[in-house]
Amino acid sequence: MNVRPNSPAARDIAHHLHPYTNWRRHEADGPLIINSGKGIYVQDDQGKEYIEGMAGLWCTSLGFGEERLVQAAAEQMRKLPYYHAFAHKSHNPGIDLAERLADMTPGDLNHVFFANSGSEANDTVVKFVWYFNNALGRPEKKKIISRIKGYHGVTVASASMTGLPNNHRDFDLPIANILHTECPHYYRFGQEGETEDAFATRMADALEAKILEEGPETVAAFIGEPVMGAGGVIVPPRTYWKKIQAVCRKYDILVIADEVICGFGRTGEMFGSQTFEIQPDIMVVAKQLSSAYLPISAVIISDKVYDALADNSAKIGTFGHGYTYSGHPVAAAVAVETLKIYEERDILSHVKAVAPLFQEGLRKFADHPHVGEVRGVGLVGAVELVADKTTKASFDPAGPVGVQLDKRAIANGVILRNIVDSLAFCPPLIITDKQIKELFDRFGKALDETEAWIK
Ligand code: PLP
Repeated sequence: MNVRPNSPAARDIAHHLHPYTNWRRHEADGPLIINSGKGIYVQDDQGKEYIEGMAGLWCTSLGFGEERLVQAAAEQMRKLPYYHAFAHKSHNPGIDLAERLADMTPGDLNHVFFANSGSEANDTVVKFVWYFNNALGRPEKKKIISRIKGYHGVTVASASMTGLPNNHRDFDLPIANILHTECPHYYRFGQEGETEDAFATRMADALEAKILEEGPETVAAFIGEPVMGAGGVIVPPRTYWKKIQAVCRKYDILVIADEVICGFGRTGEMFGSQTFEIQPDIMVVAKQLSSAYLPISAVIISDKVYDALADNSAKIGTFGHGYTYSGHPVAAAVAVETLKIYEERDILSHVKAVAPLFQEGLRKFADHPHVGEVRGVGLVGAVELVADKTTKASFDPAGPVGVQLDKRAIANGVILRNIVDSLAFCPPLIITDKQIKELFDRFGKALDETEAWIK
């Protein structure tokens, strides 16, 4: 890349450290600078337009430039730009949002704790779980089981629960008491002649074996995304969660649904827990909670978990956890407005209406010579490239085919996310039929160009 001295790209390279980036490659390649957006489209600093096929990072559900969210933020900024919720303080946006979340989540998830990101929320969950079992006089029941390829964030505890090598390697993670069980990816880990249901049973059996090996009295919780996102959009078999949940119930293990991506319509129901029939004891939401216009996340807990935590806080004299910006009033006001828009525009019906076209469009790529699997549900999906369709052999990790496809996609005006050799799709929920076609037209060209590059 030819970087002009003092250009934004040069200044970026000089001073801006990027998350999830090869910093030496960045020095050579420079940034893609996105400065504006409207609807499902964003524009770079050269005026080139892209479809944001990932809704940013699985988050801008209402697309870019939603004026009502801007207004909600501006109004709240004027009224009360900041207040906190420590030591019995509160404010209306926080109250409204907590009530709304309690109403819309399934079961008796009635109590809401706010944080600012998915990672912070999941770190909060770990502390809730430990506090819960101390409160119940079971100090040995502390282990949390997550899954290989699960993604729960990057702070110390949440990165430990994340089951991806690069989040642990050289960070001295995972911490103690965090374990990982099998990844429910049938295409990759299903055995010859095994049905999806039998595979789901094997996954649940593996979980049970792990619990028994560790001792059920030491295992506190199981955490999972209804559909794994950052691990490569891995949709489990339909019966997987029922079987996993049954094992957890058998050993008095809390079920935690990390709905940071799935929450608010992504899978075709309001929550992934509804799509996969999970009744979690704890649910975590973020991202689409505010359409990502401001950072906010929430941990929503059942009556049972709340009662134990509340008793313990009374015993100790306080619940010694919370963030300066827990339930920030401006972020909360934007989230309340986001949820209102979902309801008024019936975003769920819209997702249900366009999802079949999206899923069919994705599946058309399955015939491509190097597409091993196409998978997805609702408005999220992925296309996985393989070196050999019959053996399912992956490409040599040193020969970056996924990176190439990602680059070709950008050249063709669509931003996706390359996860090893899978390209993930997660467009804003407001995407229309016509725009879905445009998205796949652009991606199809990128795939053909990558095919030519492979040859
Ligand atoms: N949980 C899930 C399922 C996620 O997908 C993510 C982020 O992608 C996180 C947690 C972490 O969220 P954040 O990046 O806001 O810390």
